[in-house]
Amino acid sequence: MTSQRFERSGIHLDQSELLCPKGCGFYGNGAWRGLCSKCWREENQRDRQTQIQEDWALAERLQKEEEAAYASVHQKVRPQPMPVGKLEERKTKEKSSHISVESSPSSSGSRHVAGDADRAAQEFIDFLKPLKPGREIFKQCRAFTESMVYKRELGVEELSECVQDFYQKLSEYLHTQFKGSSDHVESVMDEVEKYMMSRLYEGVFCPESTDDEDKDLAIQKRIRALHWVTIEMLCVPVDEEIPEVSDSVVKAITDVIEMDSKLVPKHKLACITRCSKHIFTAIKATKQEPASADDFLPTLIYIVLKANPPRLQSNIQYVTRFCNPSRIMTGEDGYYFTNLCCAVAFIEKLDGQSLNMSSEDFELHMSGQASSPVRPLASGGASAATLQQVQSGLDLLTGLGVRQEQVMKESRRLESDLIDWSEGVEHKVQDALEMFPPETRGPPLGVPAAAVPSAPSAIDADNVENDLLPPPLQPQLFAG
Ligand SMILES: [Zn+2]
Repeated sequence: MTSQRFERSGIHLDQSELLCPKGCGFYGNGAWRGLCSKCWREENQRDRQTQIQEDWALAERLQKEEEAAYASVHQKVRPQPMPVGKLEERKTKEKSSHISVESSPSSSGSRHVAGDADRAAQEFIDFLKPLKPGREIFKQCRAFTESMVYKRELGVEELSECVQDFYQKLSEYLHTQFKGSSDHVESVMDEVEKYMMSRLYEGVFCPESTDDEDKDLAIQKRIRALHWVTIEMLCVPVDEEIPEVSDSVVKAITDVIEMDSKLVPKHKLACITRCSKHIFTAIKATKQEPASADDFLPTLIYIVLKANPPRLQSNIQYVTRFCNPSRIMTGEDGYYFTNLCCAVAFIEKLDGQSLNMSSEDFELHMSGQASSPVRPLASGGASAATLQQVQSGLDLLTGLGVRQEQVMKESRRLESDLIDWSEGVEHKVQDALEMFPPETRGPPLGVPAAAVPSAPSAIDADNVENDLLPPPLQPQLFAG
């Protein structure tokens, strides 16, 4: 019966649609024309054989140079980030100017990149020490990571191929080393990814050469434009009047937002998985029965709409390109990640039909001209409309801050003008007194009006205040 409800709402996804069309049983991804990482790579493998061989030749050459590094690495390991740091910093700044709320985790994130890379290296070494092939694994990974610095001219998709090739080779090597103990191999691979990607993050996350940033801004704008969508329109089976439910909803939102602050693909996936589990808790607490897959996707869409996660597309792309492929092809993380990709695709093409309304009504809402009273996205607590209001309140505050600064600057200028002016007057008076000593009994103080510099500043001060002082805050903006 629920599936009927969602078919009507247009947000229904056959679970088989999450899978690779090749029938291999792995999860597919839109970035690979719906194929899973394995099939996608197989399709592209042949063309890239030459490139791969070159990469490995280079990696091996560098590896020899790294031979001695392992023993002394405790003190000497320094990250050698790809040379895009400044660019990234600039982009982050630019973004924070128009994404005030959402960008805060990311800006604090990039500040810690170097420290995180150091810590990751130390943890990696500690993890590898007890393993027999530990030294060899470290050598390979370090050499490969360093070799990426020499590939600046490659596009991000090619860099992704290099990393994926490396994962594959290393994983094959580990399988022979650990005699087929997959769990062991996977736990090593997780550490490998953590070590490598904390170093490579800065150069390959949302790189200039891609349109990732444009896509981030597009989806962010789209989500803001959809602020009027209600929980009922999406047929989301959560009742936020129930404290436990609203608590889970808040946690789910927090987790999906937190994804942006992580450097390692697997850690980003973990945020999505945590978010998804809170969603299941919320549905279960509402329905008093376990949630179905049909309940999950609309609720995930709802959470993404409410959260408007920062750099959403960049994060998805980054995970798709640089995650250990087995993590997104199979298992819990893979399932939830694939659903998130679907949720984003749904949001991009959401229309009247999927929300049970006419396309005319949909367009009216999108253009902000809808007359019908719309209940905000949530039934209680912080609704999308409230968030929107908070957002515009914050935008207004940012504007006020700028104006405040102008006022301060202006008043500092006035102050110094006034000092100059009074000094000037003092001089003139002094001169006048010398010219017309008191005993000559000239006009009072004997200063011709024209000799006194006018004091434009005093008059300006009023104007400036009128022009630049911020208007009083409008309290109704924040009324919930
Ligand atoms: Zn496949």
